[in-house]
Amino acid sequence: MYRTHTCGELRAENIAQQTTLAGWVQRLRNLGGMTFIDLRDRYGITQLAFNEEHDVALLEKARKLGREFVIQATGEVIERSSKNNQSSTGEIEVKVATFTILNGSKTPPFTIEDETDGGEELRMKYRYLDIRRNPVREKLLLRNRVNLAVRQYLTEQGFVDVETPYLIKSTPEGARDFVVPSRMNEGEFYALPQSPQTFKQLLMVAGIDKYFQIVKCFRDEDLRADRQPEFTQIDCEMSFVEQEDILNTFEGLVRHLIKEVKGVEIDAIPRMTYDEAMHKYGNDKPDIRFGMEFAHLNEAIKGSGFSVFEDAEMVAAIAVPGCAEYSRKQLDALTEWVKRPQIGMKGLVYCKVNADGTFKSSVDKFFDETALKNWAEISGAKPGDLILVLAGDKRLTTKALSELRMHMAEEIGLRDPNVFAPLWVLDFPLLEFDDETGRYHAMHHPFTSPKPEDAHLLDSDPGKIRANAYDIVLNGNEIGGGSIRIHDRAMQKRMFEILGFSDEEAQKQFGFLMNAFEYGAPPHGGIAFGFDRFVALLGGDEVIRDYIAFPKNNSGRDVMIDAPATISDEQLAELSLKVTL
Ligand code: ASP
Repeated sequence: MYRTHTCGELRAENIAQQTTLAGWVQRLRNLGGMTFIDLRDRYGITQLAFNEEHDVALLEKARKLGREFVIQATGEVIERSSKNNQSSTGEIEVKVATFTILNGSKTPPFTIEDETDGGEELRMKYRYLDIRRNPVREKLLLRNRVNLAVRQYLTEQGFVDVETPYLIKSTPEGARDFVVPSRMNEGEFYALPQSPQTFKQLLMVAGIDKYFQIVKCFRDEDLRADRQPEFTQIDCEMSFVEQEDILNTFEGLVRHLIKEVKGVEIDAIPRMTYDEAMHKYGNDKPDIRFGMEFAHLNEAIKGSGFSVFEDAEMVAAIAVPGCAEYSRKQLDALTEWVKRPQIGMKGLVYCKVNADGTFKSSVDKFFDETALKNWAEISGAKPGDLILVLAGDKRLTTKALSELRMHMAEEIGLRDPNVFAPLWVLDFPLLEFDDETGRYHAMHHPFTSPKPEDAHLLDSDPGKIRANAYDIVLNGNEIGGGSIRIHDRAMQKRMFEILGFSDEEAQKQFGFLMNAFEYGAPPHGGIAFGFDRFVALLGGDEVIRDYIAFPKNNSGRDVMIDAPATISDEQLAELSLKVTL
């Protein structure tokens, strides 16, 4: 037996027992005639003690150990003379009688400590060492707990875990496919699933009724800071349901997870339409942990003669709580912030609502006290608050003000990671017009059904149709989305037409699904959650990388195994990717 206990297990009750531990040398302290070793494994750290009075040779041998050596040590559990109440094993130590070196270790390239000196790239290259550190390991353990809690809830609700294939044909979720050449079918390619969308719908046609899977999805996108080319979804589908059934079932899941993992009971999840979210927050995934809703000022500024506002398509403000005392320097910094190319505004107008009820704005020349008071009323600003106003074309201003709102919330500490504020966003537009291609795109995906009351617009004004689609948002992050699907062949065919597919293309790509719809497809709908992101948020983080054991870097590379990599001419030839050798 390698060990009788783990390094996190021994307590005062074990004193006088014999124990054998195995683990890694975290730290070695030589103090005159004594040496102490912190021995670490997944469960914790136990102090090993070596004493020259007890065994000089053993002490000498222990002193030769290096960091991260793997050893097995046997001895008696004794009371520590100087206890460490920071550590759960801090009352005891092991008086080592014998130990064996199971494996040596080179000096690790960074310290295996909670606060490491290793940079991102180095940590990724030696990810197996990084995972030895508490913060990274704890994130993986949290992920495992969430995974089990998902399975528990969905299993109790009657969902069945069914695996779907990875070598498939394209499923459009708005990204590029990763493709895999087929050796046996010359010149042909599989695509890796962007999601199991079509398969889960086919499982509904097959009568599975309630499906789920915690599943890898692959999307070849230009990587943004918090995206991974392969990521995990909690993918779900249900038959004989309406939107309301889905919202209720998965509201239950979200509440269950937050309760299980954080011990926090949350209230019923509020709902908001897409239009309302855009109007109030300029964003379809608003963070509702704080207010600062958009105040639309187009009417209020009329007749002021301030042409920057008068000529603007949109003039809108937010009232930032408690910031009326911002200095000239702070306000200049904010102006520079909105002028950055990523935000792209020409300037920023402010109005301080002073604690004594007076006003001071950067546009006092054009707006008198009455006008500014009106701004304060519309934006809900109280004495002590700072009103920030942006003006310009609607799309840009909406986006900029939404980002400014988040920036200010961050700056004044309103984004508390221990507060969980989920939100359903409903009634998304079905289609989005793409100026570049001059065509409509499905905002969600082509299998989403239109709202029945809007279906008559299919021919006349498709851009106005609302979808039976919903997103779930947590603290300003989209954590999931889904829809009630089309289950009727004619409607699905019509949708492909609107999306600009020819009959042949639609048949070639999705004939299998439309054919299935001819064999008794039940009404169905579903949702998928971004598992990595959900777990990260439960861990109090917005960056998903450390919640994935072996993530890719920003260029889509695995720097540990060095992938992607070239392959040999023989392999290329075998795959018909190179004509001759
Ligand atoms: N397949 C969708 C997605 O990956 C989710 C769904 O509609 O269920 O976003």
